[in-house]
Amino acid sequence: MMLKNKVAVITGATRGIGREIARTYAENGAKIVMTGTNHARLQALYEDISLKGAECIAMSGDVREEETAEKVVQEAINQFQRVDILVNNAGVNQRSSTLDMAINDWKRVIDTNLNGNLYFSRAVLPYMIKQKQGKIINISSTAAKSGHPNAAPSYGASKAAVDYLTKHLALEMAPYNIVVNGLSPGPIETEMVQQWHDEYRKKVLTKVPLKRLGKPKDIAGAALFLASDLSGFITGETININGGTYMN
Ligand code: NDP
Repeated sequence: MMLKNKVAVITGATRGIGREIARTYAENGAKIVMTGTNHARLQALYEDISLKGAECIAMSGDVREEETAEKVVQEAINQFQRVDILVNNAGVNQRSSTLDMAINDWKRVIDTNLNGNLYFSRAVLPYMIKQKQGKIINISSTAAKSGHPNAAPSYGASKAAVDYLTKHLALEMAPYNIVVNGLSPGPIETEMVQQWHDEYRKKVLTKVPLKRLGKPKDIAGAALFLASDLSGFITGETININGGTYMN
């Protein structure tokens, strides 16, 4: 019960890494506020988490809209009176070369991965500042740190900007006892990587020293650590979770 009675907002909780973080936080006593755009999956997760006895709110909405963040956070405050943890997890990937990439697709990736992150951070910060306590966890990617010829430039660029935002907010919010950190996964077995052809999957595996793809649980464990009191003196840091694929 590392998060007993903490209130956690998690974006992109309908599947993959976000869903696993929501379940892990709920198992550890947190009250969960989860978002996504897929109603059926959101409802399934709501039922799953409620059945296990955790309090939760499921709200659908697109993170690209600033209004979504405001509504979700307002609902968290209405029902639970505070927000202790924000996990900015919602994200989309894109495969295309720079020249083939449609500009609308570039905008969609930046709007989701970067702007959505900013909107949700801005929505929770006034409450965290009042509480003089808070933890923000940004889900980044190894794509932020080195070139990825198989992804469009939008993805790595959005995640590199998220890494900067993590450091910037960590400095700005330190006087209010708010810590801001990131997790940099890759590659993790979720729907996001199911688009890979067998040949590409094999190629990726040759680059993972631990010789396996990660599981959503590998990220959820680290997200639990960053949300808990165990990590109180860490801020502005983005932790690699990639089986050794990339080391700082
Ligand atoms: P999935 O594609 O499995 O899940 C993505 C989640 O984001 C879904 O819950 C989806 O919800 C949500 N989402 C996407 N767009 C929006 C939107 N516009 N508004 C609201 N929610 C949205 O991805 P993963 O679980 O694999 O990835 C989670 C995070 O981890 C992402 O930020 C990703 O970039 C990062 N990551 C993943 C890696 C991997 O190997 N899997 C590696 C490195 C980083 P819905 O469908 O309901 O809209």
